[in-house]
Amino acid sequence: MDFNYKTMNRRPPLTQSQDDAVSSPSFQISLMDESSAVTGVQSIRCRAAVCRKPGEPLVIEEISVAPPMAREVRIRIICTSLCHTDISVWKLKDPLGIVPRILGHEAFGVVEGVGEDVNEVKEGDTVIPTFMADCGDCEDCLSNNSNLCSKFPFSMSSVMPRHGTSRFTDLNGEVIHHFLYVSSFSEYTVVDVAYVIKVDPAIPPNRACLLSCGVATGVGAAWKTANVKKGSTVAIFGLGSIGLAVAEGARLCGASRIIGIDINPDKFEVAKKFGVTELLNSGRLEDKSVSQVINEMTGGGADYCFECVGMASLVQEAFACCRQGWGKTIVLGVEKPGAILSLNFFDILLRGKTIMGSLYGGLKPKSDIHTLIKWYTEKKLELDKFVTHEIGFGDINEAFDLLIEGKCLRCVIWMNK
Ligand SMILES: [Zn+2]
Ligand SMILES: [Zn+2]
Repeated sequence: MDFNYKTMNRRPPLTQSQDDAVSSPSFQISLMDESSAVTGVQSIRCRAAVCRKPGEPLVIEEISVAPPMAREVRIRIICTSLCHTDISVWKLKDPLGIVPRILGHEAFGVVEGVGEDVNEVKEGDTVIPTFMADCGDCEDCLSNNSNLCSKFPFSMSSVMPRHGTSRFTDLNGEVIHHFLYVSSFSEYTVVDVAYVIKVDPAIPPNRACLLSCGVATGVGAAWKTANVKKGSTVAIFGLGSIGLAVAEGARLCGASRIIGIDINPDKFEVAKKFGVTELLNSGRLEDKSVSQVINEMTGGGADYCFECVGMASLVQEAFACCRQGWGKTIVLGVEKPGAILSLNFFDILLRGKTIMGSLYGGLKPKSDIHTLIKWYTEKKLELDKFVTHEIGFGDINEAFDLLIEGKCLRCVIWMNK
């Protein structure tokens, strides 16, 4: 299937010199002839959903997106999806909350223009931006052992990674901050080329965008970080979209038992569709701990335990029920900064257990996303079932409500609707 990106979501760019001629707030820009616009070299005016106050609905407004600087790419977003990290950061108040800011980090788009010294992509290429850099020339990026780029380490920075400045301003000239180096809740955004993956235009945009963060993280944690073996037993703590993505990855790897643990039994029916074979309501265990029950169910512990909630106490429970000798506990959830983890010393020394963190599922974006797309094309990786809602950009605040209320896994937001 091919998508016509020439017309999809094509709000013709407004150049800076033309800005003055348009009276705000109007979208007369959509009537202009884009053929006269020079791509990639002038500022663009477009719509963005801006977080103006923490925890309050995003404001859809016109903004100006500056041209890409050296090694940067300006992207016309086709669709984006909402991840829990957007919500966590949206809620942050002073001094952690930074506003005004453009959130969003799961997306699919088309390259509109490139800055100097960009050879990897060109205008018209379809791309997925990610929050993980893959610079291609640091020691970590050159190694197969790590996906943690040391040139551009993970950061919640509010500016571009290479030049340290923002590309967004509002119509009063005030700087609008970036988020996770993606900021996809805007019709146009600028992303450093180290964070841009060129992909086949045939992949549906509303599936491709899932690979920027959540779904890729869960699948990657099972496939890359844990390297789940065929016939093994997996325990997943937390059945949100990341936990279900771990289940999908474990299923792909051939796990024979996938035990899902959650305090909310409403999630159990959905979990079964993701290959979870046994379900445990951790809120109803009476006098036993979760780890005791899992140890009993598995006769000595699961081969792999995945913590997808972000609670130090739950990581300890997961570690306590991974099998001695080769059991691995993989941490995906995000605790508060500075949280301390307390583990039984002898579980490590005498019982040979391993604990590992998994950022972006251990995936190296520029190579592993292609593998996930290949699996999707071959109908092995089932991305479709993660998309429970699709809405237009103007209704973006509804996506927040749906995810907060636990009513959706992934809500895709189409920019042209
Ligand atoms: Zn690197
Ligand atoms: Zn995310």
